[in-house]
Amino acid sequence: MELEELRHDVALANRIVHAAGLVTAFGHISARVPDAPETFLFPTRASPALADEGRLLVLDVDGKRRAGEGEPNTEFWIHARIYAARPDVQAVAHVHSPACVVLGQTGQALLPIHNQGGMFADGVPLFERIGLIRSRELGDQVAATLGRHRAMFLRGHGANVAEINVRRAAIVACFLEEAAELQLRALAAAGGRPDALRGFTPEENERLHEQLDSSGPMNRAWEYYAALADGRIKR
Ligand SMILES: [Zn+2]
Repeated sequence: MELEELRHDVALANRIVHAAGLVTAFGHISARVPDAPETFLFPTRASPALADEGRLLVLDVDGKRRAGEGEPNTEFWIHARIYAARPDVQAVAHVHSPACVVLGQTGQALLPIHNQGGMFADGVPLFERIGLIRSRELGDQVAATLGRHRAMFLRGHGANVAEINVRRAAIVACFLEEAAELQLRALAAAGGRPDALRGFTPEENERLHEQLDSSGPMNRAWEYYAALADGRIKR
């Protein structure tokens, strides 16, 4: 992918998580720069709804600004240290998604109960420490909690998604919020009894994962969320 196309996708990914209701004023999505893998594209300090491909910064995994004008969003350490810890990760979404916050505070682990939830069958770890991630040390702790997973919760704060490209980072963040929201609804319907929820067997999760984790569904999801963010469709 050309850098200009990547810049476009990073800005659009940020606007998508806003359009999908995962963020308001706070949150951000980044993408590793393919030709300089110790660096990543990151939005300037503003709501993701206002992300602009012409105003992205280039930061490195040590938190230094390599290019661009303006200040970065202050939680850039989340991104920097996940990229440092995970060479396989090409994009990171950090969102303050409401259902993820609520589920994290119930003490319940994410239980996949719908198709898209199958993406998270290997677990979604919870970062216990509350508050913003504004230091290298905290960024390293977040990356350690994420481990090899694709998603994690931050207690009372939101969620992070680490993916192989920026389109997937935005889409999977939307899927994670959907999974958390449905689990909360299911818990309420079950009178708050987690043992009454029926999830999937490992074999069913594997099947769901295979069905979703391919370019067809991902391209279709990107097309949908991009149209939502551009105002061409409404929910
Ligand atoms: Zn945050």
